This record gives sequence, structure tokens and C-alpha cells, in this order.
Amino acid sequence: MEFEQSELLKTLPTQFFATLVAKVNQKTAAGVDVINLGQGNPDQPTPDYIVKATQQAVADPATHKYSPFRGLAEFKQAAADFYHEQYGVQLDPTREVAILGGSKTGLVELPWALMNPGDTYLLPDPGYPDYFSGAALGQVKFETVPLLAENNFLPDLAAIPAAVADRAKFFYLNYPNNPTGAVATPEFYEQLVAWAKQHEVGIISDFAYGALGFDGQQPVSFLQTPGAKAVGVEFYTFSKTFNMAGWRVAFAVGNPSIIAALNLLQDHLFVSLFPALQQAGVAALTDPKRDGAIAQIVQRYEGRRNAFLAAAAKIGWHAASPKGTFYAWMPVPDGYTSESFADLLLEQAGVAVAPGNGFGDHGEGYVRIGLLMEPERLVEAVQRIGKLHLFDK
Ligand code: PLP
Repeated sequence: MEFEQSELLKTLPTQFFATLVAKVNQKTAAGVDVINLGQGNPDQPTPDYIVKATQQAVADPATHKYSPFRGLAEFKQAAADFYHEQYGVQLDPTREVAILGGSKTGLVELPWALMNPGDTYLLPDPGYPDYFSGAALGQVKFETVPLLAENNFLPDLAAIPAAVADRAKFFYLNYPNNPTGAVATPEFYEQLVAWAKQHEVGIISDFAYGALGFDGQQPVSFLQTPGAKAVGVEFYTFSKTFNMAGWRVAFAVGNPSIIAALNLLQDHLFVSLFPALQQAGVAALTDPKRDGAIAQIVQRYEGRRNAFLAAAAKIGWHAASPKGTFYAWMPVPDGYTSESFADLLLEQAGVAVAPGNGFGDHGEGYVRIGLLMEPERLVEAVQRIGKLHLFDK
């Protein structure tokens, strides 16, 4: 028998990265040495102290049972302590922390947990493509808010029509920003909290790249803003901060009513993470080696950013320097769309990049470069692109 997919599933958007991977695989199978800068998958190993703590936890039979619903108290305490140490934010670990199997899960589940069919929420454009999947699964509508270069890729809150703001239930934001590499300022978050209160919009801050700030600047957490907890939550993942993307460990913190809804949904879907993974999370957040490990990861990405942008400038390809994340948001030369340019680079230079239009209409005119290889290989990619003479005046 062949079973038909549900009508709900049919409304899911095409998985943008799956399409990209298929194109790259096709080239690789044809024998091309593709330099794949398209995806956001950290290439470096998980810090050793986390791996060792996990091995010990896996060897303990006590971790083989179902986790308690909503996870180990120790993990939630570690998450609360981490926020206190890093950002000076006070959290009640019993009511204001939810453990997640990757932050994507929570971000996609949120409309399902907190909205009703036909409700509307706001998504950034350009933005992380999976936000759109949440709208399909929750059967809700979304409207996009442009992030423009002239506004440092922050939304212009005053330009959001009052009617749109008033009907929106939530607004997703993500700084440091994928794909643009922009960071938010404390002043912006203060305006955002005031705007959210005025229009009764919940703020969902996706802090996936929270640890990855360059030039000595630690990115600000939305929850540092006075009054933030009253209006929203923040998602924090181990994927990028600790090179743990495959481990699927994350948490959400903040407004207790949002946390309660996510927890209730997860009781029915998930129970909680494998307890040994939760112990890994505790070790990652509390071990004295933590800050050194994070600093090393940040330094490596910063070195790659500098090497890539310097090489790009040499071929006449100029862009603003990303202030965080591990992406460069590069303009497309005249005469190309983001997709035709990405296709050209793959076909003629064997370099895969993510076309900006995959992140929304306002991503048109850009491609996203993942700085997830050593500088030599990044420079090689630029040199291959340089041979196409696309940026010569
Ligand atoms: N949010 C943003 C902006 C991301 O770029 C990513 C991953 O690339 C995620 C969330 C998902 O992270 P996780 O691995 O925790 O699901």
C-alpha cells in the first residue's frame, strides 16, 4: 500500500537546505571537488571536556531510563545559572526553562503550542527558513518584516503598520542574525519591548549564535532588556556555541506562560532528552573549561571571517563585515539573481553558496557564505570565484 501524506504535511514549504544538498551531491557524484559554503554545520569537534562528561554519563545505567518529563532539574538549574552569569538575567529554573531537542524543534512547535488556526505572527525577511515551517504546522498565517542593510538589518519598528502589529501574536527575531551576521543593540531591544507591550505582541528571540560575537563584543541577550521576560522568550542552542549541532541539545528561557505551553506540548511528543545528553549539557554550561572553549571557537570564526573578506576584497567583492555568527552576507554582482549567481558558482567554480532568496524576498541580491572551513580553503574558494572575473570593473 502507498499512503498519502496528510493535507497538513502538504502545506509544508520545500526544505531549502535539502534542495541545496541535492545540488551539491549531484556535483560531487560527478567528480567535482565542491567547496561547500552553503550550509551552517560547524566543522570543528565538540570540546573534549563535554565529550568526556558524556561518555561517563552514558556508562551510568541510571541515564538509560526515560528522563523525567520536562528534564533533569540539574540541567534547568545549569541553564538558569548560565544566563545569570553571562547576562545577569534571573530565571526560575522550575517555571522559566524548557529543555528542547534542538532549538529548531521549539521554534517550529511554538505556533502549534500558542496560536490558533488563522492567527498571525511576524517573521523576519531575510530569516531562518524553518520559521516558515512552523506556520504551516500550526496552520497560522505570517507576515514578513524586512531587514534592510540601511537599517543594519534590524527591523524598522516604526514602519510596521499599526494594523499589522495589532493583529500579530508573536514576532520572531534572531540576533546575531542568520543570514546577515548583524547584531542587535540594547537600545533596539528597549524599543522592541516598548513596541511589544504597546501592540501586545510576544517576542521570540532566537539566540542560536548568542556566543558568536566578534571584535571583542559579546552579543546582547534579549532577556537583558528591562521588562523582556514579561513579553517573550529566548531560544539558546548548544549547536553553534559548543560545536554540538548533531547532538540536538537546546533550551528556551523566559516568559513562564510560553515555557508552560512548550512543555505541555513536549510532554506529549518527546518526554525529554536522553539523560546522558542532559548531563552533557550540564557539563558544557558549568565546567570551568567552558569560557576558554567558547573563546577558542569565536577566535577561529573571527580569523576565518577576516581571511575570507580580505581575499574577497582582492577580487573586488566587497561586503560589510559580519559582527557575529559564522556567515558572510555577500552581494550578487550586476546581472544576476541570487539563484543564478549561486548556480553559476557551483557550475563554473565548484563553490556552493546559499542563495539569499532562500531566506525570503529581501534576501534577493545576496548569497550567504558559511565560514565553516579553514582559511586556506575559504581563500581557495574566493580564488576560484575570482577566475570568473565577475567583479572586474
Ligand atoms: N535558529 C537559527 C537562526 C539557525 O541558524 C539554526 C541552525 O542553523 C537554528 C535556529 C537551529 O538550531 P538547532 O541546531 O538548535 O536546531
